[in-house]
Amino acid sequence: MRFTNFTNSVNPVFVTAPNIDTIVSLAKRRGFVFPSSEIYGGLGSAWDYGPLGVELCNNVKQAWWRWLVYERDDIEGIDSSIILNRLVWKYSGHEATFNDWLVDCRKCKGRFRADKIVDNKCSSCGASDWTEARPFNTMLQTKLGAVADDDPTALAYLRPETAQGIFVNFLNVQTTMRRKLPFGVAQVGKSFRNEVTPGNFILRTREFEQMEMEYFVSPDAEHSKLVDYWVEQYLEWFSSLGLNRENLYLYEVPQDELAHYSKRTVDIMYRYFPEREKPWEELMGIAWRTDYDLSIHSKNRLDAEGKRFNPDSTDDLSYFDEASKQRFYPHVIEPAAGVNRTVLAVLMDAYSEKTNDKGETRVILKLSPQLAPIKAAILPLAKNKPEIVGMAKAIKRSLQPVLRAVYDDTGGIGKLYARQDEIGTPFCVTVDHQSLEDEAVTVRNRDTWEQERVKVSDLAEHLQKRLKPYPVVTPEVS
Ligand code: ATP
Repeated sequence: MRFTNFTNSVNPVFVTAPNIDTIVSLAKRRGFVFPSSEIYGGLGSAWDYGPLGVELCNNVKQAWWRWLVYERDDIEGIDSSIILNRLVWKYSGHEATFNDWLVDCRKCKGRFRADKIVDNKCSSCGASDWTEARPFNTMLQTKLGAVADDDPTALAYLRPETAQGIFVNFLNVQTTMRRKLPFGVAQVGKSFRNEVTPGNFILRTREFEQMEMEYFVSPDAEHSKLVDYWVEQYLEWFSSLGLNRENLYLYEVPQDELAHYSKRTVDIMYRYFPEREKPWEELMGIAWRTDYDLSIHSKNRLDAEGKRFNPDSTDDLSYFDEASKQRFYPHVIEPAAGVNRTVLAVLMDAYSEKTNDKGETRVILKLSPQLAPIKAAILPLAKNKPEIVGMAKAIKRSLQPVLRAVYDDTGGIGKLYARQDEIGTPFCVTVDHQSLEDEAVTVRNRDTWEQERVKVSDLAEHLQKRLKPYPVVTPEVS
């Protein structure tokens, strides 16, 4: 548990989330995340995003898209299909190698991922009697069309990563957008993996969302330096989302643990388990995937014996460099992040508790303003006064085109403030009797609980100024 100094005289201490369970309970209680299919007993660690959760996820995705696709000049966006031609997964190597290693506990018959076992002990029964490890392909299968159950030609996969949809579209993007290296292609969307042991809330699920970007560079670029560059970029971006640098840790993946396509991978880990001796779990990875993907999908690549490596491909995903008059397969630096793991990290870092002067403990979700599901709550001080209610509703409607606002009169003002603090709303705007005369409202700040009087005519500008995203520093790629 980490304590941070807080200089407000009302209360000197903020406490961050002590464990994931605290967030699970807040998320369910306040409409962020619900267990999926709960009325039928749930579905093995699947989760549904509620009214506030969907806003938070959308805000994370929009922040990422804005940062990479809009604010930079070297990245395009795409949205490819979830189900691709099966040959994509054959040649990418996923059919043969996208495996987890499985072991069974001989005592309790539990089944686990071999690389996640701590101290050689079964996490269910404590025994250390394991079967031999064996591979298990984690791509989720489906069948396309009205075919017989045993028709092998109908087999298809739900994508386990969004990246392949980018690689097979490399030439489409490069030629239509007339791009020269270096440039990137970003995609956000669902991916699926038949995880052996899903769990820890939204950290590991079988259906999840990724934000992946493939950054294409020349074969003689400084690839390792570019990995470092993107690591730095993402550390900056996570800071702009409100994550504390102390809760992030860089893990250089050892050679013998690298994926089949990678020459170097750095994982950014987050302290998801502050209560444990081993608190870190992967938030995202940044991999140098070499020219592996573009070359294996290309018809002109030859194998060691001089034969076509890929006789099924009808095109060659090579690039002609005008300056050097050379043709080659670009190399790729891939930062791959998870929406759900980002959301969980953001919630854990934003969670704080504060005790007021009456000794009551309040939860305050100190979300960065750009991520807060609701930016301003408009609250009438007296809900039985039609003039006050009318004015509050009119203010809500006038703010809506510029920022997400809600109207709420379902409790006393203290309760309404506490509710908004708990879901991370940066500002509460209270309409009182005085407002009817002076055309002004009280704006209360979530983090300081300070209040100021603002003219209704200045309100939108006043709030917008204070809701600006934290800046991300984005140097040019050298
Ligand atoms: P892990 O080792 O934790 O299984 P990974 O190294 O297989 O993760 P990548 O293939 O690098 O993960 O995927 C990129 C990102 O996608 C991860 O860093 C994570 O944020 C997200 N991700 C991957 N698998 C899952 C999952 N099952 N549930 C939620 N997010 C996931």
